[in-house]
Amino acid sequence: MNSITSFADLGLAEPLLRAIADAGYTQPTPIQAQAIPQVIQGGDVLAAAQTGTGKTAGFTLPILHRLLNKPSEQRKPGRPRVLVLTPTRELAAQVEESVRIYGQHTSIRSMVMFGGVNINPQISSLRKPLDILVATPGRLLDHAGQKTIDLSGVEILVLDEADRMLDMGFIRDIRKVLALLPKQRQNLLFSATFSDEIRGLATGLLNNPIEISVARRNTASELVDQGVVLTQQSHKRELVSHIIRGHGWHQVLVFTRTKHGANRLAEKLVKDGLTAAAIHGNKSQSARTRALSGFKDGKISVLVATDIAARGLDIDQLPQVVNFELPNVPEDYVHRIGRTGRAGSPGSALSLVDPSEIKLLSAIEKLIKRPIDRIQVEGWDPSTIVRPPAAEEERRDNAPRGRREGGAGRARTRSHSGPSGRTGAGSGAPDGNRRSSGSRRPAGKPAQASRSPQPGTQGRRRSGQQAALLGKTTER
Ligand code: AMP
Repeated sequence: MNSITSFADLGLAEPLLRAIADAGYTQPTPIQAQAIPQVIQGGDVLAAAQTGTGKTAGFTLPILHRLLNKPSEQRKPGRPRVLVLTPTRELAAQVEESVRIYGQHTSIRSMVMFGGVNINPQISSLRKPLDILVATPGRLLDHAGQKTIDLSGVEILVLDEADRMLDMGFIRDIRKVLALLPKQRQNLLFSATFSDEIRGLATGLLNNPIEISVARRNTASELVDQGVVLTQQSHKRELVSHIIRGHGWHQVLVFTRTKHGANRLAEKLVKDGLTAAAIHGNKSQSARTRALSGFKDGKISVLVATDIAARGLDIDQLPQVVNFELPNVPEDYVHRIGRTGRAGSPGSALSLVDPSEIKLLSAIEKLIKRPIDRIQVEGWDPSTIVRPPAAEEERRDNAPRGRREGGAGRARTRSHSGPSGRTGAGSGAPDGNRRSSGSRRPAGKPAQASRSPQPGTQGRRRSGQQAALLGKTTER
């Protein structure tokens, strides 16, 4: 790759450069540097790229550029010039949001459509002129069937996350959509993997494509610094609170296995003086949106989510993920930690593991083909927690909402020492506010040994980013 250093070098139109500057991007990511010139030239693209590589801007920006450079003679209602197909409604919504963000200084009009919601507002929206349509295949075909959409003017087709679309059984729908498009068009296919099936689809679809493959990110890659803290399930809430406060983490996504667990943890964190919110399927869409935007704006520092709720969340360059429980499916671990280290920024993932989860941990390590460091947390001594007996704790966990904990938490509170020995309660986080620093990673001093022995945790200390936060030892 030649040394393209700026978006301006890629030849993007001025309103787009302005939107890029607004978004705070200084440099194209590798996929953007490769895809943007090719798409601007009108060629087909086959790209192996995952979420987190900046792929959305990689196709959205040059598409907007092409539309700006070749305005349509007659923009018609319900007749898009660009069709982006995605496997899920979350991804569709995210892509369309990106189109809006990057196209904010233009008059290009976009729309998103997906199933599971009332079709009528979509039909009304299609009565207005339209440039870019982002859709899931099923609902798009519903509209095509009702003739509320006209696909005969599509100049550019994007298949985003094509592998997931095939996994979800959309191949027939995709073929039906393709049959409705003009033969002469530009095609862009993005997929995390290149299976034979994807190759087959690409062969029939693309003309002389350039192939782009960027380094895999957002897997259990070197970008994500991973660690495991061995602990008891009943200590986890206290421990998460201790770690987050002790290190002053300000943007943490915590995964819990259950909605109830998400609520309980968020309540505990709030009680300990952190700004936290839970998002899961029982929350209304507006509560979820509010929590997410609070998190993005920095008003909420801890978002506690179940896997399902977290799927499709677009959160920029998340520095920290915590697995409150390990997921049952090892692949979900990879997806979860993929939330960190996005678009080149470093990330860190910490998992709290109860003895009953050791089997799950082994399965994850087998999948990612490497051991995960065992970590001891500075200043953490669970024996000092004043807590009800385990059976009582368990009973409370299962009790109806109003009866849980109440004022008992007060008795359990204790002073926590952070890595630099200062008290880490509430906002008095030892590492202070790091939002202004280039890397959002806390720059805590390397941990001083105050390690309380933990069963099965021994061995060498490891240097590294997370070791600066937590006393880190490797068990093996
Ligand atoms: P994507 O792979 O499209 O899901 O993008 C991942 C994240 O990277 C998105 O949240 C974008 O806002 C962000 N992003 C995209 N391009 C850049 C860039 N050139 N510099 C910094 N962040 C970017």
